[in-house]
Amino acid sequence: MPRQPDVSILKLGAQIGVSSALGDSLICERCSNQVHYIENCEYCKKSVCLLCVKSAKRVQKTRRLSICKGCWGNLKARKQFKAVN
Ligand SMILES: [Zn+2]
Ligand SMILES: [Zn+2]
Repeated sequence: MPRQPDVSILKLGAQIGVSSALGDSLICERCSNQVHYIENCEYCKKSVCLLCVKSAKRVQKTRRLSICKGCWGNLKARKQFKAVN
């Protein structure tokens, strides 16, 4: 019989990886919610959660441009955001 790889060890490793990632929480600088993922607003430079991001787009394939709800209310920042392609 051919030797099978020991999958139980691989599964255990994956579980440990997931639990440590979940323990890594971040704080949104806008609403103070504890979240696992934040984005940087391009205009006020705050680290905000996805709920506080009003809109985001990809520029030059590698860069992601995000605008928070606070800056969306700022006409100048909104215009700048819309002007980027
Ligand atoms: Zn902002
Ligand atoms: Zn937030």
